[in-house]
Amino acid sequence: MHRFVFCLATVMVALITGSCSEQANISDKTAGWIDHDRLKNLANEPGSWLTGGRDSGQTHYSPLEQINDKNAEQLGFAWQYFTDTHRGLEATPIFVDGVLYVTGNWGIVFAIDGKTGEEIWTFDPEVPGKWARNACCDVVSRGLSVWKGRVYAASLDGRLFSLDAANGNVIWQVDTFTDRTIPYTITGAPRIAGKNVVIGNSGAEYGVRGYVTAYDLETGKQSWRFYTVPGDPKKPFEHPELEMASKTWDPNSRWDVGGGGTAWDAMVYDPELNLLYVGTGNGSPWVQTERSPGGGDNLFLSSILAINPDNGRLAWHYQTTPGDNWDYTATQPIILTDLTIDGKKRKVLMQAPKNGFFYVLDRESGELLSAEKYAAVTWASHVDMTTGKPQVLAQAYYDDEQKLILPSPAGAHNWQPMAYNPNTGLVYIPAMNDPAIFKKRENFEFIKGINNQGAHFSEGTITSEIGDFDAGEAGGFLLAWDPVKAAPVWRHRLGDFIFHGGVLTTAGNLVIQARDDGLLVVYAADTGQVLHKIQTGSSILAAPLTYTMDGEQYIAVMAGYGGGPFGYFPVGSAVEKYGNEGRLIAFKIGGGAVPLPEELDPLGPIPEPPVQIVRKDFLDEGEKLFVKACGECHWNINGGYPDLRRMSPEVHTAFKDIVLHGQREDLGMAGFADILSEEQVEAIYSYLIELSNISYKKQQATTD
Ligand code: CA
Repeated sequence: MHRFVFCLATVMVALITGSCSEQANISDKTAGWIDHDRLKNLANEPGSWLTGGRDSGQTHYSPLEQINDKNAEQLGFAWQYFTDTHRGLEATPIFVDGVLYVTGNWGIVFAIDGKTGEEIWTFDPEVPGKWARNACCDVVSRGLSVWKGRVYAASLDGRLFSLDAANGNVIWQVDTFTDRTIPYTITGAPRIAGKNVVIGNSGAEYGVRGYVTAYDLETGKQSWRFYTVPGDPKKPFEHPELEMASKTWDPNSRWDVGGGGTAWDAMVYDPELNLLYVGTGNGSPWVQTERSPGGGDNLFLSSILAINPDNGRLAWHYQTTPGDNWDYTATQPIILTDLTIDGKKRKVLMQAPKNGFFYVLDRESGELLSAEKYAAVTWASHVDMTTGKPQVLAQAYYDDEQKLILPSPAGAHNWQPMAYNPNTGLVYIPAMNDPAIFKKRENFEFIKGINNQGAHFSEGTITSEIGDFDAGEAGGFLLAWDPVKAAPVWRHRLGDFIFHGGVLTTAGNLVIQARDDGLLVVYAADTGQVLHKIQTGSSILAAPLTYTMDGEQYIAVMAGYGGGPFGYFPVGSAVEKYGNEGRLIAFKIGGGAVPLPEELDPLGPIPEPPVQIVRKDFLDEGEKLFVKACGECHWNINGGYPDLRRMSPEVHTAFKDIVLHGQREDLGMAGFADILSEEQVEAIYSYLIELSNISYKKQQATTD
């Protein structure tokens, strides 16, 4: 029925505009029918949300205004759908013709009724649990695309699927990885670009070489592949752009570590200019003197690439962080819009990458229009508008001694979607001030299959070392930024924890963002005034969407804590109090309170380790190995992974089988027999027993 109403509306528009398109026949089409004409005419269907960011520009803005700054305080619970998972949920659903399509953990796809929250179908790619070991930042997915009756989604283990939007049946699937023995993953959303669907990958922390691949929408046949960094120059270049890029690398670079540059999130297709914009990631390893000892810009790390989607050729590129040394990815969400700058209308591209500068580029030419700091930045003084390059400060290099630097590797902004509201002219950024100590690893040794950053970082203590940065400013904040004036307009500090939700903005003069404390907060878009708060019982990271069904406006958001900080549940957060049951929660005017999950029992005491004999000569070795192979997940505090100071007697008994032989692979704990010897696992175990004993004794002393 909704499709019929839509059809009628488009026929009327077609009559008025004199252009008749495919849309006129929409009632003949199957479910999930989105095409270029429908996207172009999105103004005719304000209640739809047709891409991850609603429109072609990925603005995360909706023209709906039924829910607005006058009635926002009546917003309440409509329905919830349980995903049956307990990991990070990061995707923004697509809403088309009554159905919400969204990805969850591992790349599982859900089709859900937008009015009732009832499941229509699900598709589980059945990713082997051991693949979790390859994911730096949780088994997440940032979304999917819906196109001409099909759903395009990727699994964590690198398969791209074309599914029937009506029932989730597989139409085709391809393996997008060039090498399945190295830790590639996919956490990003595939994007439709012309006749192709394009997908990138993740893994630069571990040692991979980034690339994006385009496949024919109909058949899944590979159209082209663009490597984001060159390979060993002794071998032939896969495409001409790499010859140019290789001149910005030391010929003796660590090609065996892959170089990085993975395109793990931002990709936006511009149908007007027929260009695909791809944001690329950090270097692998992080430390440039290890990666490319002779220096250089190291193209195309931390860059925005404009690619012709028909043939995969590069139109232009802009590098945000030349010679990346800090995990400053430029994979953060990109928004396309038109802005009037210096009296001239420009087609622009906007990005707030990790490095702390907000970029406005002319998306036709790649010309830099502005680059100003949107958060605290101490690695560079400014961006030179003539060369387009940042002026990097000496204190940003940590080869000889550790340094306290802003932003941290988490960035001044990460994957959480920002939103652009054309009415206020403002971009709303889920931003962070997170000082970090960067430290180079001594005697960097590449070990295939695990973290190979070559550096590590820890939260910094604020000292005079980082200038006039005010310690009270550390933490997450929501920022309203004027992209024309390149200046902040309003901001709200969100607390000490840095990771909060992505943002939605609407014509109802609203900005909506959820937080780690479980509150979904509604702000006035123009002033930033808080209009309403709803306790959801979930630490939310995803961005909400909004849509109408049967004339009623809904707001919905994926609720599930995870991502990079999954090993740590923030103090005072909803995940600490209520746990992490994955849900899609919908809200509407007049809805009541959200049914809250049951509160968790308090964490029990650390048990006395059953084993007291520890090989003291193994402890140092064990600690080193633990940090390298285990510590990335097992932070041994209250978090999403087991605290190994609280191992059960069963785990003590089966320790070797679990760690070496993958006894708990189904739970995401892969075996490490390819990396660790039996003796090394004994060393790790000895270290953990020692750690448990120390913690146990400390706890007993406090209790007594
Ligand atoms: Ca990274």
